[in-house]
This record gives sequence, C-alpha cells and structure tokens, in this order.
Amino acid sequence: MSSYKSKRLPRSARRSRKPLQENWIRGPGRGSMIKCTYMKCSYEWEYFGRRKWAQCPACHSVVRVALAKKNLVYHQRAMNSNEFKNE
Ligand SMILES: [Zn+2]
Repeated sequence: MSSYKSKRLPRSARRSRKPLQENWIRGPGRGSMIKCTYMKCSYEWEYFGRRKWAQCPACHSVVRVALAKKNLVYHQRAMNSNEFKNE
C-alpha cells in the first residue's frame, strides 16, 4: 500500500519549480516608485500592484497611486532644481 502511494509526486514538488521570490527579483520593471501623499509622512516606496490605491507601509494611510506618483515626480523636480543644496 505505502509503495503505491509513494509513486505519486508530492504537491510540494510542483511548487518548487516556481519560487515566490521570482516576482521580487524581476523588480524595477514592474514596480513604480510612489510617495505618500500624507504631508507629515511623505514616505517613498515601490508599489508593485496594479490597483488605483496603495497603502503606505509607513503611516498606513491609503493613497491614490496616480497622485502618489505625481507627488514623487514633483518632489524629484524640486530636488533637482536645488541640486546645490546638500543636507
Ligand atoms: Zn505614509
């Protein structure tokens, strides 16, 4: 009985072909950098989802992705224009 059962592959063997990490390694192509629109937070992170809303990992407020992207670009431009300013 037990030898008959052992012929079948365990389910874990199927899973091992596709590691979960794959998505993360592929990285920058899919994700987009966004910036929290909450003024007191303004945390920057990379968003991998495709939804209109994302939750900030820092302050946990829900921000609109399109807005958060614009927010980041706006701040980057502001930073570039102040290139000579160093902290
Ligand atoms: Zn935030």
